[in-house]
Amino acid sequence: GKVDIECEMMVLGAGPGGYSAAFRSADLGMNTVLIERYASLGGVCLNVGCIPSKALLHVAAVIDETQAMSKHGISFAKPEIDIDQLRAYKDKVITKMTTGLAGMAKMRKVNVVQGVGQFVSANHIEVTAADGSKKIVQFQKAIIAAGSAVVNLPFVPKDPRIVDSTGALELRQIPKRMLVIGGGIIGLEMATVYSTLGSRIDVVEMLDGLMQGADRDMVKVWQKFNEKRFDKVMTKTKTVAVEALEEGIKVSFEAAEAGATAPEPQIYDMVLVAVGRSPNGGKIAADKAGVTVTDRGFIPVDAQMRTNLPHIFAIGDLVGQPMLAHKAVHEAHVAAEAAHGEKAFFDVKVIPSVAYTDPEVAWVGITEDEAKAKGIKLEKGHFPWAASGRAVANGRDEGFTKLLFDAETHRIVGGGIVGTHAGDMIGEIALAIEMGADGIDIAKTIHPHPTLGESIGMAAEVYEGTCTDLP
Ligand code: FAD
Repeated sequence: GKVDIECEMMVLGAGPGGYSAAFRSADLGMNTVLIERYASLGGVCLNVGCIPSKALLHVAAVIDETQAMSKHGISFAKPEIDIDQLRAYKDKVITKMTTGLAGMAKMRKVNVVQGVGQFVSANHIEVTAADGSKKIVQFQKAIIAAGSAVVNLPFVPKDPRIVDSTGALELRQIPKRMLVIGGGIIGLEMATVYSTLGSRIDVVEMLDGLMQGADRDMVKVWQKFNEKRFDKVMTKTKTVAVEALEEGIKVSFEAAEAGATAPEPQIYDMVLVAVGRSPNGGKIAADKAGVTVTDRGFIPVDAQMRTNLPHIFAIGDLVGQPMLAHKAVHEAHVAAEAAHGEKAFFDVKVIPSVAYTDPEVAWVGITEDEAKAKGIKLEKGHFPWAASGRAVANGRDEGFTKLLFDAETHRIVGGGIVGTHAGDMIGEIALAIEMGADGIDIAKTIHPHPTLGESIGMAAEVYEGTCTDLP
């Protein structure tokens, strides 16, 4: 058949995985085509994920902080929110980042082809543009980075008052009463934004606690601080029916445990469904290329990010959990380098997780709850922020920093931070784990005073028994 574009490397999808893979491939000298269905590069993360949510969370944090100043004798007027201007600010942030990416693609001579890509063979992909026109791209090597999509609940009707994370980030309205279905990171971040903007929020979660994956001691601190933010937090509760009525969205619940009583049905002005994301592996005609896709839509890969076909790689959300941008970027570099013939492997010990809520909750490596469940013996250094001069000065000393050590080798294997800016600090613990640091290495590293990051050094001192600041 006819071939419109020939290339050495074809990257499908321009999210954090795809653009990073394309840029690295081009930097390594490969003639690279990047296929993306949307006009804007950056994927979920830049357009409807990490970046817009952080723009709104930043605004929420400023509002919350100024309002909290009244405790110190500084009073600000109740904020007046111009939702159109706030939305414009968020959109400006996105545009700045995505046009930056377009510039970087151009600089590297990455050929960006806009349209939906569907494989037609192991070396060809068909790209259908918005106007229906089609192009065939022939490639020697490929990296699939088609990402993931939101999971919908089958019983939820279509209604503008019912949104997913993308709809919530559009910021069309500030509802009086809002329900967040799903107590994971994405749901709780959006709950933080909307509650600060003035909504009353309920959260419903099927499992026995919010923010699954994080240690319960950290979630407890977060939940206590946020007590007033939520009207009801319904855990161990299933959402079983959602009806769009004129007066609002009626939601019915069922207890997840037999014998427990379910909450009464409620009427909401807006409902956010945040129950997870599913991989796009099943939507790209991978079978035409001969690439294996699991029933759930994941593409299995080896440590070089190679699929079952040696010349086709896959990265990012569609190769598995955790579905995080920094994991996708790291995998992208491995795939591009491996495709270029280098001995690159995905060989990290840990991948950090962060909930950018208020306070932030960040963790990396093994958690205490996981160790308990697996019968792994850990030792701990725990530093409460009530003993941190900086946290107290900030008026935010509810948090703590903990480090988890292997009981035999005394090397650090995990850590968690709950408190303001926890996400900005967790990287140090990740580095310590990757470097095989032990408690003394961290305790003897001079951290600047007075900082929140100092709490990491202090937690190590607590573990070593050399902390002089605690009774
Ligand atoms: P994606 O970003 O999903 O990109 C895939 C791209 O492929 C998309 O642009 C899509 O249009 C394109 N595509 C798919 N199929 C085709 C096709 N057939 N043809 C052409 N193009 C196609 N992660 C973090 O690490 N930190 C955060 O703070 C964070 N916050 C988040 C907040 C929200 C609300 C959401 C929804 C997600 C968040 N994430 C966060 C997750 C993060 O967005 C994803 O892990 C990341 O975007 C995955 O990158 P990716 O390259 O694998 O895929």
